[in-house]
Amino acid sequence: MSKANTANTARAATAQIIDGRMIAALVKSDVRLLIERFKLETGASPSLAMVLVGDDPASQSYVRMKERDCEQVGIIARDYRLPADTSQEHLNALIDELNADAGVSGILVQMPLPAGLDEEAVVERIDPAKDVDGFHPTNLGRLLRGQPGMRPCTPAGVMVLLDQYGIELEGKHAVVVGRSNIVGKPQAFLLLERNATVTICHSRTRDLPAVCRQADVLVAAVGRPQMIDASYIKPGATVIDVGINRTEDGTLVGDVDFESALSVAGAITPVPGGVGVMTRACLMRNTIDACVAQEAARKSARLMK
Ligand code: NDP
Repeated sequence: MSKANTANTARAATAQIIDGRMIAALVKSDVRLLIERFKLETGASPSLAMVLVGDDPASQSYVRMKERDCEQVGIIARDYRLPADTSQEHLNALIDELNADAGVSGILVQMPLPAGLDEEAVVERIDPAKDVDGFHPTNLGRLLRGQPGMRPCTPAGVMVLLDQYGIELEGKHAVVVGRSNIVGKPQAFLLLERNATVTICHSRTRDLPAVCRQADVLVAAVGRPQMIDASYIKPGATVIDVGINRTEDGTLVGDVDFESALSVAGAITPVPGGVGVMTRACLMRNTIDACVAQEAARKSARLMK
C-alpha cells in the first residue's frame, strides 16, 4: 500500500483528502462523451501523436499510461519511438510532418529529451494549435494575456481539483512554490485569472515557511521530496502537492510531507492519486479541444472558398 493510502486509513487528523483519481475519472468520462459526439457529427476521430526519443524507463512508463488514457476515452494514440541518438534535424522533420498531418490533433514530445537535443526548439516547433501540453510560447503568452489557448495540463488539472472541491479562490492568498515554465508560472497565472492574490516562491525566496504560512491555497511544485511539512502550512489551508519524487526505496512521494501536513491542512492532495492523474486527464481534454478547434477552422476555411 502506498504511503498516501496508509496515511489515509490511519489518520486521526482533519484534512479532507482531495481525490484526484475520482475527479480524473469524471473528466475522462466527459471527454469520452465529447469524443463520441464529435465522431457522430464529423465521422472523424481525435488522435494524439506521442514522440518518445530514447529509452528512459520513466518516460516509457508515462507514455504507456497516456496510451491507456487515450484508449479509455477514444483518442487514437499514434506512437513514434526514436533512438536516443536521433538528430535534431530528424526530430524537427518528424514534428513538421505531424504539424502538417490533418489526421493528427495533438502532438506530445515526451520530456526530458536525451542530451544533445534542444527541448526549447522542439517545444517551439510544434504548431500551437496541436500543442496539447500547452508549453508553446504562444500558448503561454495567451495564458498571460487571459486569451483562450491550450493550458498546461498539470496546472489546469490543479484548477479542476480546486473547482470540484469548491475551494474558493477569489480574494484568497495563493502561494505557489516553484517557478518552472510547465508548472509554477502557469499555475500562478491560472490562479491570478481566478482573482486569487498570488505569490510565487523559488529557491531564493527568504523564509519560505513564513511565506507559505500566509497561503490559503498552497501549491508545491518544487521537486524536493516531502520538503513542505506542517510548519509551512496555515491551519485550514488547501495544500496541493504537484511533486512526484521517488525515494531510495522506490516509494513515490510528493513535495509535501503528507503525514505531517494532514494535521494542519484543511484539504490536501495525496501522492499518488492527486495531481498526477489529473495531468493526464487534462491532456485528454486538451486533445479533444484541439481536435474540435481544428475541425472548426477547417470548416470555416471551406466556407471561405
Ligand atoms: P523544476 O525543477 O523545473 O522547478 C522546480 C522549482 O522549484 C524551481 O522554480 C526552483 O527554484 C524551485 N525550488 C527548488 N528548490 C527549492 C527550495 N529549496 N525552495 C524553494 N523553491 C525551490 O520542476 P518542475 O516544475 O518541472 O516540477 C516540480 C515537481 O513537480 C517535480 O517533483 C516534478 O516531478 C513534479 N511534476 C509533476 C507533474 C504531475 O503531473 N503531477 C507534472 C510536472 C512536474 P529556482 O527557479 O529558483 O531554481
